[in-house]
Amino acid sequence: MTNIILKDVKIRAVNVPLKKPIVAHLGKFESWPYLCVDIITNENIVGKSYIGPYLKEYLPSIASSIRVLINNYKDKPIEPYTFYQQGMQSLSLLGFKGIALYGLAAIDIALWDAFAKKLKKPFAKLFGGSIINPIKSYNSRGLWLIENEKIAKEAESLRREGDFKALKLRIGRENHKKDIEAYKEVLRGAGSDIIIMSDFNQCFTTKDAIKRCHELDNIGFYWFEEPIQYNFLEDMKKICEEIKTPITIGENFHGPKDAHDALIKKSCDMIMPDLMRIGGVSGWLKTASIAESFNIEVSTHLFPEVSAHLMCLTPTAEWLEWVDWANPILQEPYKIKNGNIIIPNKPGFGIEWDDAVISKYNIDIL
Ligand SMILES: [Mg+2]
Repeated sequence: MTNIILKDVKIRAVNVPLKKPIVAHLGKFESWPYLCVDIITNENIVGKSYIGPYLKEYLPSIASSIRVLINNYKDKPIEPYTFYQQGMQSLSLLGFKGIALYGLAAIDIALWDAFAKKLKKPFAKLFGGSIINPIKSYNSRGLWLIENEKIAKEAESLRREGDFKALKLRIGRENHKKDIEAYKEVLRGAGSDIIIMSDFNQCFTTKDAIKRCHELDNIGFYWFEEPIQYNFLEDMKKICEEIKTPITIGENFHGPKDAHDALIKKSCDMIMPDLMRIGGVSGWLKTASIAESFNIEVSTHLFPEVSAHLMCLTPTAEWLEWVDWANPILQEPYKIKNGNIIIPNKPGFGIEWDDAVISKYNIDIL
């Protein structure tokens, strides 16, 4: 294979309205900001990625990190493995977590996309994976902290969207009875065979988390997600020891080492890394191997398109989190069938921008 050469980077910022506003302990969001990154090469190949760092005010600083990080690689061959290793080393100056890591992730994903496109293979097939095995997915794009009276109807429609077998409910309501009532409303709306994940979004102190988790431990939640602040790993371990329902964390792992630290401290029963925060495709693949060595199941957090490919290469893969937040900016969003995400048989990650929509929701980051 002849090398493809990195010539330039194009970064666009958008703030995309959400069909269902997010109402969580972490805040209320009516829209979701993304950076859309194009890696321009010397051939007719463009590597593409998007990241979504929650707060649009941070987009300019992440875009700036991307420009700085990529400067050393212009006019050089696209070699994603080398970029990640050298990029992470360079972060020792700024710190391995946060904004610079998000920038690194955005480049890493786009470089892998270009690399796979050059070889004319879907990304998962580049590594010898299959894209036809079912990847079970749960619908996570609703059931926020809404009134309990609205839950059954929403659960019913969320299930129907892709014949989902599992939904995620946000909990940590004013008392445990309200959480139990919310759980029962999901069953009433979506059917008694629906699997219900739950997310506390870090809303409790350790003492209150242990109390609430005990109160909800026997009702049938599939997992409890982030009951306390994400980096209190010792306290998370205590909760795991006390509670039968599996505890999951991981969307706030910043790089593979955070995953390793959490697993070695026995702070969770399963993990769910976030593509952006874990360090992109390269960070994910390293984390998947770490999880395998601990025999710990891996689910995904947001970014369903790239995450779907990565699940094909994750030995202990469990659930893919489905959200449709980026669908408006994509020409052909991934589809869900029978509760499984369908990976298109296209080179790379199969992401093509809807430029008209990107222009419509564009925000200035200069
Ligand atoms: Mg969560």
